[in-house]
Amino acid sequence: FDMFVLAFVERIFRPTYKKDDIVLGRKLGEGSFGVVYRASLAKKPSREGDIVLKKATEYGAVEIWMNERVRRACANSCADFIYGFLESSAKKGAEYWLIWKFEGEATLADLMQSKEFPYNAEAMILGEVQDLPKGLERENRIIQTVMRQLLFALDGLHSTGIVHRDIKPQNIIFSEDSRTFKIIDLGAAADLRVGINYIPKEFLLDPRYAAPEQYIMSTQTPSAPSVPVAAALSPVLWQLNLPDRFDIYSAGLIFLQMAFPSLRTDNALIQFNRQLKRCDYDLIAWRKTVEPRASPDLRRGFELLDLDGGIGWELLTSMVRYKARKRISAKGALAHPYFDKEGLLALSFMQ
Ligand code: ADP
Ligand code: MG
Repeated sequence: FDMFVLAFVERIFRPTYKKDDIVLGRKLGEGSFGVVYRASLAKKPSREGDIVLKKATEYGAVEIWMNERVRRACANSCADFIYGFLESSAKKGAEYWLIWKFEGEATLADLMQSKEFPYNAEAMILGEVQDLPKGLERENRIIQTVMRQLLFALDGLHSTGIVHRDIKPQNIIFSEDSRTFKIIDLGAAADLRVGINYIPKEFLLDPRYAAPEQYIMSTQTPSAPSVPVAAALSPVLWQLNLPDRFDIYSAGLIFLQMAFPSLRTDNALIQFNRQLKRCDYDLIAWRKTVEPRASPDLRRGFELLDLDGGIGWELLTSMVRYKARKRISAKGALAHPYFDKEGLLALSFMQ
């Protein structure tokens, strides 16, 4: 009953928007399924550029649905969703328009592209530049803090029954207000509890960050269960297939890229994926093949992960594994001893 009243009250009081309310700004991105702009609301001209607009194709419907669900169930995991609607015009046909709060300028990809990483991320999280000597220990703490924030957001999604399926640095935005990283782009997400978009549209998946089981779900489960059946079955399917571990693999690759600067470019990641496949997705075997002739950069990455008795390396190898069911969950990862040591905020309070 309470839920019903809340939904009713929200329907009356939550503002809705239409095309004419939105003033377009500069283009932020363009994929094959939509275009993203910075924008403002005409009614609030004083706050220029405070929203983001995505004009999406047919997949926009699923993305609106996912964002509405996240808004109610795990709002802090993702960028603040404001509103979504269908916009039909004679010229362009049907488009879905989605609006979010503009969370900030930088994605994790932007930050990782800079030579300053991870210190640029530290400055954003703490809101100040720390006057401390640079070094492995400090870098490890920054990376640990970013990983904790990412896993926290993922745990929220997974506990809600949503698998993102497109976790990558480009889809992780730094929210300037909350000083945390949040997840964006639910265009490829699946909600297993109600069977929405259950069959992965594998052409939507980014091969650079995709786990090796990318096609398994679609071939083993040939048709989307109808909604009531899915609602009854999906907790079982969830246990059986552990679809959330797909995101964990992607998050593990991000962890890897943060630890090894030389693996941050697309080409280097693609080459790493090839090497790992040749090692049957065994990260320990991969390490054995590359470490003897490792560049100083690669050696430094291993050194970072080997800090505190190799606890970082242990976490990484429990995320990047061939078999989904052998990978750690987001909740499990947050409880991993890698996170026992105090992260960035504690460090700043000590000053
Ligand atoms: P696409 O389908 O094009 O990948 P995204 O939802 O990932 O669409 O958005 C594209 C880009 O727009 C992101 O990489 C990010 O730079 C920016 N962006 C998206 N949402 C937000 C937001 N809420 N706040 C700030 N920037 C955003
Ligand atoms: Mg994206």
